[in-house]
Amino acid sequence: MKILGDLIRALREACAGLFDRRTGKNAHYSMIDIGLPAFAVFFMQSPSFLAHQRRLEEGSGRGRSNCHTLFEMERIPCDNHIRAMLDPVDPKSFFPVFHTAFKALEEGGGLKDFRRLNGHVLIAFDGTEYFRSDAISCSNCSTRGRKGGKVEYFHTLLSATLVAPGHNRVVPLPPEFVAPQDGSEKQDCENRAARRWLKAHGAHYAKLDPIYLGDDLYSRQPICEDVLASGGHFLFVCKPASHKPLYEWLAGGRSAAARRCPEAWQDARHAHLSMDGSRTAARRRRCHDRQLA
Ligand SMILES: [Zn+2]
Repeated sequence: MKILGDLIRALREACAGLFDRRTGKNAHYSMIDIGLPAFAVFFMQSPSFLAHQRRLEEGSGRGRSNCHTLFEMERIPCDNHIRAMLDPVDPKSFFPVFHTAFKALEEGGGLKDFRRLNGHVLIAFDGTEYFRSDAISCSNCSTRGRKGGKVEYFHTLLSATLVAPGHNRVVPLPPEFVAPQDGSEKQDCENRAARRWLKAHGAHYAKLDPIYLGDDLYSRQPICEDVLASGGHFLFVCKPASHKPLYEWLAGGRSAAARRCPEAWQDARHAHLSMDGSRTAARRRRCHDRQLA
């Protein structure tokens, strides 16, 4: 219970520091009053925000008592007010809570149960779409074309999660949002978000000797190099359609690329098998450059 109390305290602190759009001094609700009920929806696993609100307002059931005792919530604003106040808040304001939760896991000795493959931890990357509309949009939306010239707006984030086969819990790490980036003409994507994540958090988690897991979207040279540069390792899915030379090589044949640079392919095989690409990275890069030329 002490750990839960510490975590909720960290959440309260994050809420207290949230950007407050109001300018007057006589605000009826504090940002803690506003942030905590929004989080409580997920904690109490309510089917919807409105259902959760009704439960609290009626004062019935364990929802209210849990919110009162666990979160020390007294005054609860209406859901419209919560949405309006949280809309301009930068999601990064909550990132310290992820770090506090991870630290609690580390200090409480829970991290050792997540160790796999000779002492590594596994951090899974995956994209999640959490908003889609053809009517409502904002400046953070990504877009895609639909039939009849229609445009669909959507929001996606890259989640990074500590996972371990056989463990019945996962630990979320700070996410990275897929959203238009300043100074970039191109639409943002999951792959670029993963590279930003590694830049922002890779060094922080390097001490855990992490292996990054991901689907075929991630098994591309720039991101693999970023993983190695951040002190991590990778296990990414390579689909036959996107990794033809690799599959030819696995099948025993030699691709045109392999014939041009057999030495590097030998090294590449070693790197794939050992997950240690650093020793031959420069040579492989030279070879790769030649293949592209
Ligand atoms: Zn949007």
